[in-house]
Amino acid sequence: MRKRLVAGNWKMHGSRAENARLLDELLQFDSGAWPAAAAVCPPFVYLQESARQLKDSGIALGAQDICADAGGAFTGEVSAAMLKDVGCRYAIVGHSERRALYAEDDRLVARKFMAAQSHQLVPILCVGESLAEREAGQTEAVVARQLDAVLAVIEPEALVEAVLAYEPVWAIGTGKNASPEQAQAVHAFLRGRIASHDARIAAGLQILYGGSVKASNAAELFAMPDVDGGLVGGASLKADEFAQICSAL
Ligand code: PEP
Repeated sequence: MRKRLVAGNWKMHGSRAENARLLDELLQFDSGAWPAAAAVCPPFVYLQESARQLKDSGIALGAQDICADAGGAFTGEVSAAMLKDVGCRYAIVGHSERRALYAEDDRLVARKFMAAQSHQLVPILCVGESLAEREAGQTEAVVARQLDAVLAVIEPEALVEAVLAYEPVWAIGTGKNASPEQAQAVHAFLRGRIASHDARIAAGLQILYGGSVKASNAAELFAMPDVDGGLVGGASLKADEFAQICSAL
């Protein structure tokens, strides 16, 4: 049985007070009854305070991004060592907003993946196609290219301590999720691609679905055999909704 995870990507939302309140509310749901691991990824500036609040809880902490470089003259960046230092367990790499708005290419994403693992952070590697790419029948080619860029620089064994997230760009923040069948098809494709390198590692890899996951659609998405949880944006900003999504797993 594969491990399962629901991770909340809070993006650039909230304030110090709102962030603390949301964590407080989440902690009330954290009864240990959730069948899956849960993680939240607040903005960088709130990570340290969040770590204190989440201490000894079942909710792990993640970062929304990471610098590919180890340290030094990289103004504005945050290194893997720093994220580890403040208590992160996960780091999202290659989110479509980073790829689209900050011109992060496959090569940089692969370097970020390695930077995370160099400090025992678990990378959550996001892949996904745009609407135009889906309509042009390029979904598999796009996610394969994004995945292969990472596989080119790591040993398959590195995937044991990693999480993959399929996030179709057209489903992120739009309220229009991929259907369970669409998600399953891409997840199975990704798992198959990894299986061509190492079947054992592919079988154990957690592949999350992200893109307008809500309490109302989580159960049917998570029921798919290759969907091992969710990467949740908007719905992770409401504690009760996020808790329901975790319970759906
Ligand atoms: C995301 O930001 O990764 C995401 C999936 O957002 P949303 O759930 O809001 O679509």
